[in-house]
Amino acid sequence: MSGAVVLEASALAKHYPVSTGFLTPKALARALDGVSFTLCAGTTLAVVGESGCGKSTLARQLTMIERPTRGALLLDGADVTHADAALKKRLRQQVQMVFQNPYASLNPRKKIGHALEEPLAINTAATRAERRERARAMLARVGLRPEHDVRYPHMFSGGQRQRVAIARALMLQPRIVVLDEPVSALDVSIQAQVLNLLMDLQDETRVAYVFISHNLAVVELIADEVLVMYLGKVVEQAPKAMLFGTPRHPYTRALLASTPRIDAGARRDRPVLTGELPSPLTPPSGCAFHQRCPHAVARCRAEVPPLEDLGSGQRVACHRVHEIG
Ligand code: SF4
Repeated sequence: MSGAVVLEASALAKHYPVSTGFLTPKALARALDGVSFTLCAGTTLAVVGESGCGKSTLARQLTMIERPTRGALLLDGADVTHADAALKKRLRQQVQMVFQNPYASLNPRKKIGHALEEPLAINTAATRAERRERARAMLARVGLRPEHDVRYPHMFSGGQRQRVAIARALMLQPRIVVLDEPVSALDVSIQAQVLNLLMDLQDETRVAYVFISHNLAVVELIADEVLVMYLGKVVEQAPKAMLFGTPRHPYTRALLASTPRIDAGARRDRPVLTGELPSPLTPPSGCAFHQRCPHAVARCRAEVPPLEDLGSGQRVACHRVHEIG
């Protein structure tokens, strides 16, 4: 059951000036271009698309690592984009991040107990004994032994290190955790364990996840809602069952056809994805997908399709959505 809205993104955009050559004016890369969604407590929004579609740029805006060029981001109703330094510090505690490679986010020279206590030492008045107790309790909660808090990151397996990274992200009891390809680097058998852990922790804490992934098979397991991105824009958004059962955007269909699924019949007769994602520096005119779309017509090359609400929570940006069935 979904809870209260914890995060609201409205027409979020991030444009980077990029130098294309000596003496030539800088070009603008529209890495994120008008993305809107809401995220409720205790739910998971998956953000999918090919590498370069804007997923990681979105993660950097949500975690306040970068400031968006345009648009608004409300966290529990507080405006993140216009927050002063003190408010931003408080809001940052509410949004934590887990990266693909936990080894890169853990200091190899520090014991993992220290890594877990650090957010408490920086942001709370907890005593050293309290911090240690909470760190050890969190290790147990993520399926690790509390007495292993004295170990160093290299003494754990990849899956265990990712459990440590998840534990660290939860130390401040955030409202949201942004997970950027959190299981992509793990063996398939370990992936399922980490996904189950994430779902159990969500049931216990009602934390909301933004789950960034290029792997639709993984998304199908964990997501409540799915946002499909193409060249910085949302092309389809729908509840999981709808997106996997009746995908409406040609790009979503092609992505699904390119992904091994349990229900192989679900992808029969769908064209797979061909060609490459265009550069955000020189996006195609009209619908950004038109060069790769088997349904493209003249209108697709001329007009940008708006994100149309089809009802039941499904939104699709395609001129021909009602014709192609
Ligand atoms: Fe394809 Fe046209 Fe729809 Fe774009 S707008 S997805 S090119 S049919």
